[in-house]
Amino acid sequence: MLATPADTLALEQRHTSGAYAKRPLQIVRGEGARLFDADGNSYIDCAGGIGAANLGHAHPAVLAALAEQAAELIVCPELFHNPVRARYQAALCQAAGMARVFLCNSGTEAVEAAIKIARLSTGRPGIIAAMRAFHGRTLGALSATWKKAYREPFEPLVPQVRHVPFNSLEHLEQALTPQDAAVILEVVQGEGGVHPAESGYLAAVQALCRANGSLLIIDEVQTGFGRTGRLFAFQQEGIGPDLVCVAKSMAGGLPMGAVLMGERVEPLPPLSHGSTLGGNPLACAAGLAVLDVLQSTDLIPRAAALGEAVLAHLRAHLPDDAVREVRGRGLMIGIELRGKVTEVLAALQARGVLALPAGVTVLRLLPPLVITEDDLWQAIFAIEEVISRAA
Ligand SMILES: *Cc1c(COP(=O)(O)O)cnc(C)c1O
Repeated sequence: MLATPADTLALEQRHTSGAYAKRPLQIVRGEGARLFDADGNSYIDCAGGIGAANLGHAHPAVLAALAEQAAELIVCPELFHNPVRARYQAALCQAAGMARVFLCNSGTEAVEAAIKIARLSTGRPGIIAAMRAFHGRTLGALSATWKKAYREPFEPLVPQVRHVPFNSLEHLEQALTPQDAAVILEVVQGEGGVHPAESGYLAAVQALCRANGSLLIIDEVQTGFGRTGRLFAFQQEGIGPDLVCVAKSMAGGLPMGAVLMGERVEPLPPLSHGSTLGGNPLACAAGLAVLDVLQSTDLIPRAAALGEAVLAHLRAHLPDDAVREVRGRGLMIGIELRGKVTEVLAALQARGVLALPAGVTVLRLLPPLVITEDDLWQAIFAIEEVISRAA
């Protein structure tokens, strides 16, 4: 028997950990960039699975890959070789221009692995991250995450992790010591409010890291897989990071993460790290389908072009008395309001548009790259209307 929306709400409220602040909306189905609630209402999905739905919902290529692989083999720990994993590792490394890869199951695990690899390969303990950074919620990744409310209840965290202002080379230069294993940065800070790296910043950071014998870790968990109008956002920065963390959209919405290792990082010693489900053939098959779609269609240049058009439109049309700044790259868009974002999100939902916050005042859009132009502009016009009314 199907539960009514009220049943579902009550059940979840009784048994969930309590860790999430949920909206009173029950999503039961998705197709492309549309989501459907229990009453059959349709929404334009600008939340995009918080960045895990770059190919949208029910993408036929992902569905076909999953069905085929599920019938063949789902579980195969890295005790053994597997042809689907082998193909995926090769395809991912080639797409990112990296040498090797460690496969795991989430973004935070990718960051954990990157921190361990950086310590192992430099023999140093220190990590420098940026203010406003988000790198995940497990204890190591949490140490690199900036927001105090996420970190403080769980202290003590990993020692010798420090934060410097994002986009300030000077502060990094002062902070970096010969005890630092790595600097970890996002190309566009996502959860921190959609702040892109300034032109030249990451290249200069890389030069500082090299001179200091520290590794550069780029966290592409949110920016990866076409989101910013490039397959990976770092690829428009003229850099060659030592480690790149990915997750979210890499397997079409299935749990998967990875840390990619550059030529300058030695292979790991056997048994120095591991994951039971990491690199399972089901996720790898989905990952192959995702890469194939992104590399054989125009979705990525289209995201770049649509993103530019949307940014220009919003900058020209949003009222100054309600909006501080519009930022973004590709289809990763942030609108910094002068007031709180909560009411704007609710008003958008009432108009059939689902979107995200990034902090207290930033409205964040991460629509699937497959969104139709009609849906995208409909969402943008709804945002304009809601924000203009609030002004
Ligand atoms: C979401 C996110 C993470 C954490 O990923 P999870 O899969 O939620 O653990 C890490 N870094 C960035 C930049 C993210 O956006």
